[in-house]
Parts: sequence; structure tokens; C-alpha cells
Amino acid sequence: MTAIAFIGLGHMGGPMAANLVKAGYKIRGFDLAAPSLELARQNGVATVSSLAEAVAGASTVITMLPAGKHVLSVWQELVEAVPAGTLLIDCSTIDIDSARKAHALAQAHRCPALDAPVSGGTGGAAAGTLTFMVGGAAETFAGAKPVFEAMGKKIIHCGEAAAGQAAKICNNMILGISMIAVGEAFVLGERLGLSHQALFDVASVSSGQCWSLTTYCPVPGPVPGSPANRDYEPGFAAELMLKDLKLSQAASEETGAMTPLGAKATRLYQLFADEGFGTKDFSGIINMLRDRSGTS
Ligand code: NAD
Repeated sequence: MTAIAFIGLGHMGGPMAANLVKAGYKIRGFDLAAPSLELARQNGVATVSSLAEAVAGASTVITMLPAGKHVLSVWQELVEAVPAGTLLIDCSTIDIDSARKAHALAQAHRCPALDAPVSGGTGGAAAGTLTFMVGGAAETFAGAKPVFEAMGKKIIHCGEAAAGQAAKICNNMILGISMIAVGEAFVLGERLGLSHQALFDVASVSSGQCWSLTTYCPVPGPVPGSPANRDYEPGFAAELMLKDLKLSQAASEETGAMTPLGAKATRLYQLFADEGFGTKDFSGIINMLRDRSGTS
């Protein structure tokens, strides 16, 4: 079975590596943080104390790190440590520019590479139901698909280098905007004397239907499993939404795409985070909208 090095065993990487172990892959995991290493070890991942040890003998390396700067620094180390031909996969959510630089680094060292950010959160990582959006050469994607299938349910090839990151950034921009739209509608409905359930019953079967309403409803009641029912414990933390919205705005600036609602959503999530709610679920932004609504 393929030997895989897994670098970055945090909230996402830890359970993803554990699912690869369950699928029969020989995994060696490394993380800078002792608690992440320990938790991964308890979940069946063989852990080591250096990147060099993790990659020794591995034909594939997966990284799951916080941001572009971490990925570039780890990939610089990786390309110097692994033989040509080693497959490098980055599953972190990072900026397009860093993703392109990572691909270029790999190409210069004759290593096939994929950017493969995920959607589905920590629940999806644990359950092995993540969606992977993948950028890179078609034949590299085809060869790596079984590895993704051990960690996810939907595996989509989006195009060449950095196309996976592009898809992730665009998707999450839709999500950030739509959650604010749904929150605004509930706050306006409250002002108009409309019950949450009545608005939900209408909008969920009408043209206002969207994931932010029907899966992640930002008021308690209509969707019992949504974070609103547990005081907005994440879920998907507002600070992570803000990170992804900022990536979308950096990409808009670079390309000249007009994304006025993405820009506004970024400013609103920044305000929400500045007010101390960054670690709450992103759907909690409805409370900021309600609190800031006037009385007439
Ligand atoms: P996390 O902070 O829990 O994990 C990142 C891990 O990387 C940490 O354990 C950290 O110690 C480790 N690390 C950092 N630098 C390192 C290095 N040089 N060498 C080895 N390990 C290093 O973050 P997470 O929630 O697991 O998220 C990881 C990525 O996945 C991020 O890019 C995030 O945006 C993305 N993502 C997260 C979620 C989510 O719900 N948490 C959902 C989708 C995508």
C-alpha cells in the first residue's frame, strides 16, 4: 500500500490522516505542535518528530496547514527532501498566488503536484465525507483519486494548477454573502412580526432557498442541527470565514473582478470578529445585524 507522509495534524489534518490509516495506507504524520501529534497518535496515526522522518520512503506527501506562508515554507523543505516523482498534495485553503508558487516549486523539482482544498469542516474530516476541489494535471489527479476517496465523498477536478483554490474561494464567497442575506431576511421578518418558522417554511421551498437557510439556518428552531441551536458554537468559525473572504478579495483585486458583495461581506465579518466573535460560528453574524438594527 502507498506510503504517505502527512504534514499538519490539526483539526482537519488529524482526522484526515486517521481515515487514511483506516483505509489501509501506511501513514507517517508530523506536526510542530505536540498536542496535535499526540491526538493523531491516539487516533491510530504513526507520528514522527521531524519532517525528514515523515517523508522517508513516502511516495506521496499531503500538507494541511494554516495559510500560504506555512505551505510555501514546508514545500520548500519538502522538495529538497524528497526524490523527483514524489506526489505533493496541499489540502490547506490558501491564496492563489501561494498555490501557484507551490506548484512551480514542485515542477522545478520534477514532482507532480495538486492543490486540493476541502469543504465539509471538521465533521466532514472525521466522517470521511469531505468534498475535494482539485487543481493540477488530469493524469496526476486520476492517480491520486483513491487517496482522496479515503477521506472524502465528492472529488472534483477543477482544472490546472490553483483551480482547486479558485473554486474554494469562489464557493466560500457565495457562502459568506448568502449567510448575511439569510440573516438580514430573518431580522427584517422579526421587525415585520413574521415568525422564524413561517419565513423558513416559505423561503425553504421558494426562490430564497439556499444552503445557509436550509442546512445552516442562523436562528434556532427550524433546522435543529444548525449552530444557532447551540449558542453558535462552530461549526465553521467566523474567523475562518473571514480568512476565506479575504482570500477572495485578494483574488478580486489581482484579477480586476467586480465583487462588491464579497467586499461588503468581508467588512461585516471583520467587524464581527473585531467585536470578539471570531471563534463563534459564522452564522452568528445575524446577532450583529439584529443588535445594530434601529428602533424605527
Ligand atoms: P489547525 O490550526 O487546527 O491545524 C494546522 C496544523 O498545522 C497545526 O496543528 C499546526 O501546528 C500545524 N503546522 C503549522 N506549521 C507547521 C509546520 N511548519 N510543520 C508542521 N506542522 C505545522 O487548522 P485546521 O482547522 O486543521 O485547518 C487547516 C487548513 O484547512 C486551513 O488552511 C483551513 O483554512 C482549512 N480548512 C479548515 C476547515 C475547518 O473547519 N477547520 C474547513 C475547511 C478548510
